[in-house]
Amino acid sequence: MQQAINPIYIAEAYQPLFNMMQQEHNLILTVGEMDDIISAVSKVEENLTELYRNVCDVNGCNNTASSGGVNWKEQGYWSTCPKHSQDAREGESMPPMKNEAIAREASRLPNGILMYQA
Ligand SMILES: [Zn+2]
Repeated sequence: MQQAINPIYIAEAYQPLFNMMQQEHNLILTVGEMDDIISAVSKVEENLTELYRNVCDVNGCNNTASSGGVNWKEQGYWSTCPKHSQDAREGESMPPMKNEAIAREASRLPNGILMYQA
């Protein structure tokens, strides 16, 4: 559970941004404008968190991966969530993986390094 943070501390954390807006752009923001910026930054943080979230490689699974390279390792370096890691420990055969995960593993060099293409 996330702890509520005193809004005064949040405002203090954003103070360098507000100082920069005033000093570099001669903009003195109202409290409402500052709140708009804080809300927008929160949304950006959510988007970035989702962008960098490591999702389970199993096809159709959107759980956060908690393990990498352990389960069904004879067939790839898969990132798996706790549920699918447990399935592997219980001896279940590898479920279908997402196409992008299969493509990623197919691109892995014999030494294990991934070669990403731009
Ligand atoms: Zn999963």
